[in-house]
Formats: sequence, C-alpha cells, structure tokens
Amino acid sequence: MAVIDPAKAGAQILPFYLAGDAGDSAVIRGRFASVGGPVTSILERHGYPDQVAALQAEALAIAACLSTFMKFDGVFTLQAKGNGYVKTLLADMTSDGALRGYAAFDDESEPQLGADMVAGMSASVPALLGSGYVAFTVDQGGENGRYQGIVELSGETLGDAAMAWFANSEQVDSHIVAAARKGESGWTASALMVQRVAADGGSAPAGDKAAQDDAWNTAEMLLRSVTREELVDPALAAEDLVFRLFNALRPHVAPAQAVMDQCRCSPEKVDAVLERMAPDELAGLVADSGMIEVTCEFCKTMRAIDPGLSRH
Ligand SMILES: [Zn+2]
Repeated sequence: MAVIDPAKAGAQILPFYLAGDAGDSAVIRGRFASVGGPVTSILERHGYPDQVAALQAEALAIAACLSTFMKFDGVFTLQAKGNGYVKTLLADMTSDGALRGYAAFDDESEPQLGADMVAGMSASVPALLGSGYVAFTVDQGGENGRYQGIVELSGETLGDAAMAWFANSEQVDSHIVAAARKGESGWTASALMVQRVAADGGSAPAGDKAAQDDAWNTAEMLLRSVTREELVDPALAAEDLVFRLFNALRPHVAPAQAVMDQCRCSPEKVDAVLERMAPDELAGLVADSGMIEVTCEFCKTMRAIDPGLSRH
C-alpha cells in the first residue's frame, strides 16, 4: 500500500487498480483526484458567486483527474462554452501537476440559487452553462503535439460531458463523478473515475472475458453508489474511500501525484503578446497610471509595463 504524504492530502491524485494487480494487468484502472487545497486558493483570488465557484471547482477536479489517464508531456485543458449564466469555464493542468482555471459569467443574469443548481451530486450544467460544448485538449507543444475532442453539453453534469467524450473519441468504458463543496476551512473538490483497460492497447489483461465484463459492471455499479457526502468529506482520506468503495474488487493503489495551484504566466509571455500588437492597440491599453496594466485571467497577477519601454 502506498504511503501518502499528509502535506499533500489536500491536493493529490491517487491512482488505483481493480480486479488484478497494479498496473495495466488490472481489468480496471481508476483515479481519485482530491484537489481542495489548490481549488481553495484559486477560487479565493476570483471571488465568484458560489454556484459559479462550485462549477469551476468541479471543472478543476475533472481536469486533474482526466489528465492523469493520458500519457503526455504538456498541458491538458477542459474548456466549456455555454449560452447560459456561465459563458466560459476553463481548467487546465500540466503533466507536472500545475493546476489553474477561470470562469467568465454574465453579471446581469444571476440565476436563482436553489436545489436545481445541483443535479444529483454535481453542479447542474443546464442551469449554469445552458447549451454549448466542452473541448478537451492535450497540448504537448510542437506541430503534431495537439489533440482535441469536442462534445456537446448534453448531460446534467461536467462528468457526463467527460464521459460523452470518452465514449465518442476514446471508445473506452469509463465512468466519472465529481463534486465540490465549500466548507469552513475552504473547498473540497473531488473527481473519481474508473476506466476499463483498453482491449486494443496490447495490454489487455488475459483471462476470462465474462469475468472481466463482470468486474467492469461491478466497478461501475460501485462508483454509482458513492455519495456526495463521501466525495466532499475533507476528513475522508482518498485511500480510505477507494478501499471502502471498491473493496469487493481487491483494490491496489499506486503512489499519489501532487497537484499545485500554479499558473504558467510570466513577464516574458506578456511582453511577447504586447510585441504582436499594433501601436494604437497598445495606446488603448494605457491605464490612468500611465502604464499598460495586464492582469492574468487565471491567477489575477497584475503586471504594469511602461509603454515607453515597448519595442515599438
Ligand atoms: Zn497567471
């Protein structure tokens, strides 16, 4: 059994395996992302209304969870566009575990808070985003290093959208649930996912197909039985939840991956953007202070650049 650093308990992704040994010889692999720590600090900088914050928290947990299912070196992004109260929802994580995100919403049309904001255990996509789409992008840099899948916002939750993407593009049996809650000491935000190890990957576990179908059906049923309370309980350790929930499928866990609240903006990137702008565009950005003030949408860092030092 893996030992988890308690210091990372508020921000980690725990890989686990069901019905077989650890690794790809298992019939099912899973991840439990619990990212309350970084989600709390990210949301504190934005001051969103609670229902937007809850949706953003779930997006961050789902992005963190999904990203570790893929082998890549770069950035995984979840971006939703809607025609409802929330217009844009973005969450991304690097393969090193640097998580960030932001939401754009319509100040004028705040929906009524109510039970319909939560569909089962998660924030309601129809109530908050309306209709639109979600794009999932893996970007490894370079010309061929980008892959994107897009699905319509047709389900009740962001987890449903993620499952639709897996069903369409990856064609692998997957199930994911996510939940977030604001407590006295900050947010808890979790995403729990199981996925059947792909049969065409060359690494499909040998053995009885019927027994594997059985194991998958059991895993999906057990995942559906998880309660919102279990997912958002800050006192319930990730490993304890996995063993409690999937005990019948003999879980194995692997070392957890740390997740951090960390943006990728930099003065150099701001300079590069300004250099591409026309002089009159730049002039329009000069604030009362006489400086060009650029605020990162993700981390809210404000940078003041002297327009006289611009290379134009
Ligand atoms: Zn930033």
